[in-house]
Amino acid sequence: MDILKKKDAEVYEALRGEEKRQRDKLQMIPSENYVSRAVREAVASVITNKYAEGYPGKRYYEGCEYADQIETLARTRAERLFGADHANVQPHAGSQANMAAYLGLLNPGNTILGMKLSDGGHLTHGHEVNFSARWFRSVSYGVDRKTERIDYGALRKLALETRPQLIVAGATAYPRILDFATFREIADEVGALLMVDMAHIAGLIAAGVHPTPVPYADVVTSSTHKTLRGPRGGFCLCRKHFAAAIDRGVFPGTQGGPLMHIIAGKAVAFKEDSEPAFKTYSAQIVTNARALADALLSADFRLVSGGTDTHLLLVDLTDTGITGRKAAKALDRAGITANKNTIPFDLRKPAITSGVRLGTPALTTRGMKEGEMAVIAGMIRKVLSHIDRDDVLESVRTQVKELCDQFPVPD
Ligand SMILES: *Cc1c(COP(=O)(O)O)cnc(C)c1O
Repeated sequence: MDILKKKDAEVYEALRGEEKRQRDKLQMIPSENYVSRAVREAVASVITNKYAEGYPGKRYYEGCEYADQIETLARTRAERLFGADHANVQPHAGSQANMAAYLGLLNPGNTILGMKLSDGGHLTHGHEVNFSARWFRSVSYGVDRKTERIDYGALRKLALETRPQLIVAGATAYPRILDFATFREIADEVGALLMVDMAHIAGLIAAGVHPTPVPYADVVTSSTHKTLRGPRGGFCLCRKHFAAAIDRGVFPGTQGGPLMHIIAGKAVAFKEDSEPAFKTYSAQIVTNARALADALLSADFRLVSGGTDTHLLLVDLTDTGITGRKAAKALDRAGITANKNTIPFDLRKPAITSGVRLGTPALTTRGMKEGEMAVIAGMIRKVLSHIDRDDVLESVRTQVKELCDQFPVPD
């Protein structure tokens, strides 16, 4: 970044600060990760200069021969990685992939049945502040109060009552395996399409650590920057039958020119994701999440649903009397960066919450294993038991820095 340093010291300094933050703290927000140097080089490349509206071989601009090569690579690699008929790699992010899929498959006013935000769903699955509830009729399902897992019986009943055109499976704060076969059965029973939003778990699915939705879903949407460890972005997969509708939903439906530099980064990431090392990495993410869950349970924390099958877990802080907001702030001061999160049936507002969400993808990229998860659980216990003691937070901060120094960020 020598040239940036000379030309724009302010942006340069902020980026150096961010680099240090990512290096010296434990990144435990489950939707974050560290991309490889190869992905960063692709994303920072000259193809950011190119307009390529349209699709490979059918562009509205000249000079797209390399853009075509890159997009075709990204598309075919995504199709192969997930065993899908068709991929569209142009969505700018996960939310845009969802918007494009809705536009491609539905009409305004149709009913979508998605998971409640407060129970782990995403804004774009029909939350009232989001376009998905402003332009469609939104109905929401949730988890069972006792098991804190999706209540498929209640979901089926709700589907029969509300007759949605589309059912959305997928979540942003749900630590358990999703039962795609049952979602499919319910969709078939009510004549709905099934969309699976695998944004959080795409990497686990690519590696075979979580069951795949591809044989069950009409369309699968995703982000590329979470467990998949690619650049910030999104993509859609679908059956051949829906390929034209999805492509039209993306462009010209909801987007203009594609971000070709990001698509180059996606192509690189999809290649990395198909290598054997990515399977080992993804299996370790889940092993680490289980180890972290076990250690937190031993330290007397309560976890939503009692544990995890995936890369993330939700700590219910209700019994500690500490809010999610206060906990997340104290943890970050001590060098452990996570996010506050509502828990199912939370009595506190989304800006306060009673939970903290923790994930292992970024720590696992640094090479940390079960032993480190136990140490980190101990640090979390220490911070939350002495939340108003600056000296304790300071001593944990020192411990975190030492741990980070032992596990450098790759590349
Ligand atoms: C993260 C996420 C998204 C949105 O991704 P953005 O890239 O932030 O727009 C969509 N759906 C689910 C389930 C997610 O977890």
